[in-house]
Amino acid sequence: MTTVLTNLLDLNPVQLREYCASLDEKPFRARQLQRWIHQSGVGDFEQMTDLAKSLRGKLSHCARVAAPAVIADHVSADGTRKWLLDVGEGNAIETVFIPEDDRGTLCVSTQAGCTVNCLFCSTGKQGFSRNLTTGEIIGQLWMAEFALRAMRAGEDAPARQISNVVLMGMGEPLLNFDASVGALMLMLDDNAYGLSRRRVTVSTSGVVPMIDRLAKTCPVALAVSLHAPNDALRDRLVPLNRKHPLASLMAACRRYLDAAPRDFVTFEYCMLDGVNDADSHAKELVDLVRYGPSPVSCKFNLIPFNAFGMPGLRRSPPERIQAFAGILMDAGIVTTVRKTRGDDIDAACGMLAGEVQDRTHIRRRLMQMPRC
Ligand code: SAH
Ligand code: SF4
Repeated sequence: MTTVLTNLLDLNPVQLREYCASLDEKPFRARQLQRWIHQSGVGDFEQMTDLAKSLRGKLSHCARVAAPAVIADHVSADGTRKWLLDVGEGNAIETVFIPEDDRGTLCVSTQAGCTVNCLFCSTGKQGFSRNLTTGEIIGQLWMAEFALRAMRAGEDAPARQISNVVLMGMGEPLLNFDASVGALMLMLDDNAYGLSRRRVTVSTSGVVPMIDRLAKTCPVALAVSLHAPNDALRDRLVPLNRKHPLASLMAACRRYLDAAPRDFVTFEYCMLDGVNDADSHAKELVDLVRYGPSPVSCKFNLIPFNAFGMPGLRRSPPERIQAFAGILMDAGIVTTVRKTRGDDIDAACGMLAGEVQDRTHIRRRLMQMPRC
């Protein structure tokens, strides 16, 4: 009989304590284990030298520490690094590290594919395979942090390489709520990555009930992918808008900020030439966030559209993006234009597609066919 080994990356801090209790171990053992795994990058129980030998023995029979395997690892001319990771059954996901002078940001995936199917997003176009587990989500941070540290070993580099995490890779994190929150808990835990909640961002296309749940369970920084100032246009660009229209989305943003009053919501807005980039759209946006029951405390992040072979969609010209940003800024709204990073390795926003996905499992079926 084969024993199924528990992957300890799948366990949030509470679950790891429960797991240790099930092995008759005290809660401090869970903290020690968590520090070995998430702060030292150690996955081999024999190397966890301050754990009792008996516990190391138990763990080696019933547990393991395993992140998704790396299929490919590319570095862009601008230093952006993208990993393609195997999550089984022909599915691959992508994780992107964006180094900047004052920070290192990791963009993490939460689903293989996405059901929301926004008009301009290559992840949406590939369909949906499945939700990632907590281990597959935190495993991206674990793998990336320790790969980056290993690369800089011997240099006078800061111990921690990743200072910020954004759940902005493939998938809709709020449609994979429990696994995403499990990973967020580890990101924030002092015995794991110890990131402050403002350095961890969840980006959502607007799953209203789950925005409320996030406020209650794990109020990290919130980014909302807006892309349109009215329901008629947003219904076309972000089909989820038909279920959760703008008025209810804005109300959810207000409630989120009630839970964390000193925060702001970042509204992401993909700039599409001739679609959503007119002056009139910018003025409508100002009205949307300024009026209603109360203004929404917010920033805008304009993302120049990254083309991936979708016919009929083009990036707004730079002067249009500047004029659009000018209208928002004149209304007193902090507005940034996202620098496109890593586009030579297809690592920019909306370009993540996990190239090796094989949804028909053709490769596996071919392997299983008898040879003639
Ligand atoms: N599903 C979540 C998070 C992943 S998408 C969400 O939609 O928010 C991360 C960001 O990339 C979103 O703001 C999304 O709208 C944007 N995006 C998707 N496709 C894009 C593209 N082709 N060009 C530029 N931004 C894109
Ligand atoms: Fe899904 Fe986000 Fe892409 Fe929309 S933009 S299809 S929600 S990953």
